[in-house]
Amino acid sequence: MQDLRLLAQAKRGQRGLENKSGLVGWDEVTQGTVLPSFEGDATNIANLKSEERAYSNFNSYTATVASWRVKKPVFNRDICIDCQNCWVWCPDSSILSRDKQMLGIDYDHCKGCEVCVEVCPTNPKSLLMFGEYTELEEALAQWPEKKKKEK
Ligand code: SF4
Ligand code: SF4
Repeated sequence: MQDLRLLAQAKRGQRGLENKSGLVGWDEVTQGTVLPSFEGDATNIANLKSEERAYSNFNSYTATVASWRVKKPVFNRDICIDCQNCWVWCPDSSILSRDKQMLGIDYDHCKGCEVCVEVCPTNPKSLLMFGEYTELEEALAQWPEKKKKEK
């Protein structure tokens, strides 16, 4: 299993939204202000991996919304077939995938919406929702068995 920290640079989720870190609120920004998402020239940004990009402090990559969640998706590698459905459907780009292999979840940005669980096609699902403070081993120990087809 790849270390998920390899997919994140130091700026990912470094500040909570309640901590302004010197930034002004949305209602304090002067009309017409430009807030660049990246530092410097961003011409080639689409060809860089997320951890290689020079994010500015205005970019949501640098903030975390983890404090919003009460439930989180847990990933079970043993069942996953790397179909990428969860990656395609996640509304917050919080599924971490590389070279068509599902790696896990970016818990700094996941909102706990459960869409990834809904679209996972395996039996049982490879993603299931658990309470925010459930440990991985505890969640995996509670994983359901494969459901038999009804005749
Ligand atoms: S729970 Fe929602 S936000 Fe979190 S990884 Fe799944 S689809 Fe994305
Ligand atoms: S939808 Fe399920 S089976 Fe497909 S990549 Fe995601 S976790 Fe794996």
